[in-house]
Amino acid sequence: METIIEDIGDELLSKLLGPDKNDCWLWEGKVSLDGYGIFECEGYEFQAHRSAKMVLEPGWVYKHQDVIHICDNKLCCNPKHLRIVDKVKT
Ligand SMILES: [Zn+2]
Repeated sequence: METIIEDIGDELLSKLLGPDKNDCWLWEGKVSLDGYGIFECEGYEFQAHRSAKMVLEPGWVYKHQDVIHICDNKLCCNPKHLRIVDKVKT
């Protein structure tokens, strides 16, 4: 398990640029229509910032949780700029 996490971490980091002047780590890979980075792994697509929060910090983000940007930059993957919040129930 640890090796898998490390491999994913390396792959994620290889697609990040930065830090920029705001200390943001910018996603260089594929971007979704709504402006978030897409991280492709093993044939699946994940939100890049969500993956970054889990892999780089590391810790688990549950299904009922969202990862939001406190720096307001959708492409940022700096785990320090990402906050886990509970999804608003609809
Ligand atoms: Zn940021």
